[in-house]
Amino acid sequence: MTGEKFVKPIKPKVDINKVNTHIIPFEFEYFEPRTVKEAVELLTKYGGEAKILAGGTDLIVRMKQRFIEPKYIINIKKIKELNFIEDRGDYLAIGAATKLREIEKSGIVKRKFEALYEAVRSMAGVQIRNMATIGGNLCNASPAADTAPPLLVFEAKLKIVGPNGERVVPINEFFLGPGKTVLKPNEILTEIQIPYQPEDTGSAFIKIARVAMDLAKVNVAVALRTEGSIVKWVRIALGAVAPTPIRAYKTEEFLVGKELNEETLKEAAEIVKTEVKPITDIRSTAEYRREVSGVIVKDALLRAYERISKG
Ligand SMILES: Cc1cc2nc3c(=O)[nH]c(=O)nc-3n(C[C@H](O)[C@H](O)[C@H](O)COP(=O)(O)OP(=O)(O)OC[C@H]3O[C@@H](n4cnc5c(N)ncnc54)[C@H](O)[C@@H]3O)c2cc1C
Repeated sequence: MTGEKFVKPIKPKVDINKVNTHIIPFEFEYFEPRTVKEAVELLTKYGGEAKILAGGTDLIVRMKQRFIEPKYIINIKKIKELNFIEDRGDYLAIGAATKLREIEKSGIVKRKFEALYEAVRSMAGVQIRNMATIGGNLCNASPAADTAPPLLVFEAKLKIVGPNGERVVPINEFFLGPGKTVLKPNEILTEIQIPYQPEDTGSAFIKIARVAMDLAKVNVAVALRTEGSIVKWVRIALGAVAPTPIRAYKTEEFLVGKELNEETLKEAAEIVKTEVKPITDIRSTAEYRREVSGVIVKDALLRAYERISKG
């Protein structure tokens, strides 16, 4: 080369090329462990530079958009011990890498945890549900994650495994903020434990989205028990209205002991609106989200109540 200065190609920075192309424009090393132990060993070795791949329906999109550039990808799809739906007496256990489509097709989920069934059915299309996993939905920690509100009202517990053994975290302590959870870089979510609810529990999930295949503008799940029309026990959770999916504890407290009539529902809707902390983004405005939160909590309570009445 004469007279010309050799210019070393500059590696594009993460903040350019943020479009969902068909290309993943950087290199990574790829692993397919067969056991949780192997996966944890890899995570421990590569720490923050590694990412778990389950269905990839969130991760691959983010990689293509170059929001993240992991050096190591650990695919957990071939780990059999992460893929199951199992009745354990007091609770239903679902492996973290179980596909949404398997959950949707599970008779026990539909019968015992109707709000979860409805949430899963509302997610994306069949093609995505055939890839995406329940663990991926939770670990991605979108405030709008559809499986979060039903799991919050059923007070699910999450089993997490790391190099020092396992721990079980109640789901209401799992989310820390958008994209953030209590998981350490060398930990993996292995199973979701959903306690069976008393037989007379009614539950429902409602989601408002721009189009059928979109994340929620607002979503809500409710689990309810009544004595006649008096509320005996209620749990309400909402998504996309705060930095994490939330429980509406004040509204729950207000409802207990009240007759479930138009006036009570109206008041409950007003309280919900004070509990949410929505933002304006591409999907909706904060004002709309606040208003609709009240409306869909009311609707979900009525739907759950109808389900109890039908027995
Ligand atoms: C077209 C389309 C429509 C969608 N619609 C919806 C929708 O309606 N509702 C909704 O909530 N979501 C929706 N999503 C988002 C996505 O499909 C879900 O969040 C899905 O459940 C993610 O699961 P996954 O297995 O694909 O996760 P992945 O993309 O594989 O992983 C997501 C994140 O979780 C981490 N992770 C995965 N599993 C584990 C584990 N076991 N332990 C620790 N970390 C883990 C990964 O490292 C990554 O950071 C949609 C996505 C697309 C592309």
